[in-house]
Amino acid sequence: MSTQAREILEKYWDKEIPIDPIKLANALGAEVKADPDLATSGEFNCTNDGPLIQYNNTESKVRQRFTIAHELGHFVLGHGGAYRDNPEEFSLANHDPLEIAANRFAAELLMPEAVINLLIFKKGIKDIAKLSSMLQVSQIAMQFRLKNLGLIS
Ligand SMILES: [Zn+2]
Repeated sequence: MSTQAREILEKYWDKEIPIDPIKLANALGAEVKADPDLATSGEFNCTNDGPLIQYNNTESKVRQRFTIAHELGHFVLGHGGAYRDNPEEFSLANHDPLEIAANRFAAELLMPEAVINLLIFKKGIKDIAKLSSMLQVSQIAMQFRLKNLGLIS
């Protein structure tokens, strides 16, 4: 399991849920810009002014949050260069190792294992719809995360 997301959360997360990926990106020195005219879901670029994450704010809130976390992954994981991400890049069917790594980072950032465990085992919340709404992620993303953590089959 990658530790970058956990380290970032330990350093910069204000312990509020849902976790705000924009705050974390800003804390890490990346600028985050909403652009309703963006032709993609999200993009990451290393510009002369520094790292820049752009996201399409006409998409659903949970998609926007995942997009920002995914683009932040490209930055934090040192993928360099420029990324143009569309729903295919977020899909589980994507086999590009860099996209898989960015998706994993995003999942770990928005759905930390410790938070999931707290919600499920301490607060007794077992409903996927409720868990995903508390963490503001899609139900599919939550389902996949719970599977990865071995909590559902
Ligand atoms: Zn990507």
